Amino acid sequence: RSARGNWHTRPRIGIMGGTFDPIHNGHLVAASEVSWVYDLDEVIFVPTGRPVFKLDKDVTNEEDRYLMTVIATASNPKFTVSRVDIDRPGVTYTIDTLRDLRALYPDAELFFITGADAVAEIMQWKDADSMFDVAHFVAVTRPGYTSPGCVKLPEGKVDVLEIPALAISSTDVRNRARNGEPVWYLVPDGVVQYIGKHGLYRQPR
Ligand code: ATP
Ligand code: MG
Repeated sequence: RSARGNWHTRPRIGIMGGTFDPIHNGHLVAASEVSWVYDLDEVIFVPTGRPVFKLDKDVTNEEDRYLMTVIATASNPKFTVSRVDIDRPGVTYTIDTLRDLRALYPDAELFFITGADAVAEIMQWKDADSMFDVAHFVAVTRPGYTSPGCVKLPEGKVDVLEIPALAISSTDVRNRARNGEPVWYLVPDGVVQYIGKHGLYRQPR
């Protein structure tokens, strides 16, 4: 029996992929809200290896991004973190993430969670069509980005979900940390402390 009192024959698992450089409260609200609305049993956060859309940018070392994701999700009994993308060599493609998790959870119903900006790129993703066979796609609203409803998506393949708006991005958190500005309450307390302890985002990279 699920948190909402329903019976499901198959486990319902959300997948929240991201660079998480660093993970912030916008990611956590998105995962929490999709988990509630879709009555999920678990949400797996999957930090990327080399993100395909960020090959031209410097990305923080994957172990730091992984550990910050673990710290941020540790207190939620439904949230877990997977290393599938970090441990797979080469550039991260979402289709590979989905296939790896499908192999680990053959019986589960999978829900891939993305923000409004990422869904706009969906059709450029490698093997976009087969991704929809592996998982449901849920696009959450994100302040500053056009509503995913306006983006041309394959009919009936992607649900759009309005969530409480948090105008937070990792880019903004990194810039603040670099300038010595506060990041409290934009990211979980443990992540603020991890950034400070390891001197992340201090120098221009
Ligand atoms: P960056 O600024 O470095 O691109 P980001 O804040 O966009 O970082 P990502 O790790 O790129 O974070 O995002 C992972 C996923 O979370 C994407 O699907 C993105 O659309 C979604 N997301 C990020 N921030 C928010 C937010 N504030 N509200 C809703 N969804 C978000
Ligand atoms: Mg982004």
